[in-house]
Amino acid sequence: MKYYDKLIFELSKEGRTGYSLPCRSLSEVEGSASAAIPAGLLRAEAPALPQVSEVDVVRHYTNLSQMNFGVDTGFYPLGSCTMKYNPKINEEIANMKGFQGLHPLQPACSVQGALEVYYNMDKALSAITGMAGFTFNPCAGAHGELTGLMIIRQYHLLRGDLKRTKIIVPDSAHGTNPASAAVCGLEVVVVKSNADGLVDVADLKPLLGPDIAGIMMTNPNTLGLFEKEIGEIAALVHECGGLLYYDGANMNPLIGMVRPGDMGFDILHLNLHKSFSTPHGGGGPGSGPVGVCEKLLPYLPVPKVVKKEDGSFDVVCDSEKAAGQVSGFLGNFGVILRGYAYILMLGKQNVKLVGKYATLGANYIKESLKDCYKLPIPSVCKHEFVFDGLINDGSRKGTGDEREGATTLDVAKRLLDFGFHAPTIYFPLLFHQAIMIEPTETESVETLDAFIEVMRKIAAEAAEDPAILKAAPHNAPITRPDETTAARQPVLKFQDEA
Ligand SMILES: *Cc1c(COP(=O)(O)O)cnc(C)c1O
Repeated sequence: MKYYDKLIFELSKEGRTGYSLPCRSLSEVEGSASAAIPAGLLRAEAPALPQVSEVDVVRHYTNLSQMNFGVDTGFYPLGSCTMKYNPKINEEIANMKGFQGLHPLQPACSVQGALEVYYNMDKALSAITGMAGFTFNPCAGAHGELTGLMIIRQYHLLRGDLKRTKIIVPDSAHGTNPASAAVCGLEVVVVKSNADGLVDVADLKPLLGPDIAGIMMTNPNTLGLFEKEIGEIAALVHECGGLLYYDGANMNPLIGMVRPGDMGFDILHLNLHKSFSTPHGGGGPGSGPVGVCEKLLPYLPVPKVVKKEDGSFDVVCDSEKAAGQVSGFLGNFGVILRGYAYILMLGKQNVKLVGKYATLGANYIKESLKDCYKLPIPSVCKHEFVFDGLINDGSRKGTGDEREGATTLDVAKRLLDFGFHAPTIYFPLLFHQAIMIEPTETESVETLDAFIEVMRKIAAEAAEDPAILKAAPHNAPITRPDETTAARQPVLKFQDEA
């Protein structure tokens, strides 16, 4: 253990401080009587704060920051999360004084520039997705899903079609889809995937009927595969009176290539904190704007930004048909601004390259590693793909020289030793040893090659001596916590034993 791996409480030394001020008691300060704090509100004992010097504090925070891993630190191929680089120009623009000091309760006439950003972003995302209009109020992808489902429910309710209480979700769906449906009070009906990893149209047909509110899909799906039957699926769902919801968290490979609106989707959410390069992780802030087709525009939640006839912008709360209100104001403006800066920076031409490069990178890694890792679905993928563990995990069961093979968890842990973030593991649930890799378009071929080389080295180690993997990571401050306890009962603060 390095000296500065110690907790700051362990560095504490009685009487040490990081400041020096002249000694003055409160009674010397003029008017101090009014500053007196009622005795009942004063603590009996001083808090047990660490007593350290300024340099100890600086080193504490600097070292802590270096124990974290982010996309600014290294390659982050976390499948289903689109950990692309967040260009620094986004931050510069979001930090501009005129934007930073805004208050959501300012009158519309004093925030015309900000409202114009909402309006222009609406136009840009509508053009990219083939939708008619957006709300920016939802603050995350899952929040967008709930908002979209509320719109679907409102649409059916206001038509007096009260029997549509079920929503179809594929078995490969992201966990937030069935969760959002349940929160919205809809009953989830699961449609199976076929052997190619796509929605099984034969399994879908008998599920359709007058009780179906719609279907939630993502395309490419969670296996990174394009749902080729989407045209037929859209026709079938519309025929039965349902709506098509597109989980646009997987929009990255389609940007500039294909539009969900053209595939037949009526409603979608995007994750600006994935596809549109705004920072994410750590619980936010995020942005999950929801776009709808023409006929669903009146159901968008309030408040809404509108452009008036004289060219100025206003915020309206016309809620006659709106599916309620889903956040305090207009959503996370700073995040929307970053996404807008990203779109403008790329421009019409380069925006079309995002999906192509994301797809190229994923296929390059897949093809370079498929002789060491099991590839259950070998077709061309989009922005991500799934391995099902190692081809040779090094196990020797029943040979007399018994030994356990390396698992997907062991591969992920070993990667940390080489300075790469682990891919998504054990998701999707369709495979027992899933390793889900999404490189994104912002990585150079040299970075992809370095990752491939390390993944091949790990596969060779597993075949030779899986114990190396089982003991990994070898140089991380925390190695293998009990993940359930760490998630359910995290110890987040120092507990003084004294
Ligand atoms: C990330 C993701 C979500 C949820 O987005 P959050 O912003 O984390 O709520 C939903 N669906 C898919 C496919 C995703 O990858």
